[in-house]
Amino acid sequence: MNTKIIEYIRKYYSWEIPGKTEAMQVFRAAYWPLNEKWPDLDVVAELKNTFSTDELIHKYSLWEDGFNSLAEAFYEEFKDTDKFNFCPSCGQIARSPTFERCEGCGCTWNLGNDDKNS
Ligand SMILES: [Zn+2]
Repeated sequence: MNTKIIEYIRKYYSWEIPGKTEAMQVFRAAYWPLNEKWPDLDVVAELKNTFSTDELIHKYSLWEDGFNSLAEAFYEEFKDTDKFNFCPSCGQIARSPTFERCEGCGCTWNLGNDDKNS
């Protein structure tokens, strides 16, 4: 899988990758001061109390390391759906799920969702 597709998934669908919510809780526990406005404050506080900052950073890095294979599984599952917007001419992934011009070959297309908010 090419890096453009991995970046596309990271940008638009990372919240659909299993473990993202938990990974971001670990990330906040590692790097951010607790914020009382967080709806999951108790979970993040528990992580901070249970693990040292180094352990939290390590846990987060494991998730980052595994991201590519999770992204690949996501791609295999959804590559034929409208989550993935490929150029009909050259097959390159578009800049975003709603972008209608190819940055590779300059081809344009219509996704047919002009009447939707996108
Ligand atoms: Zn193209």
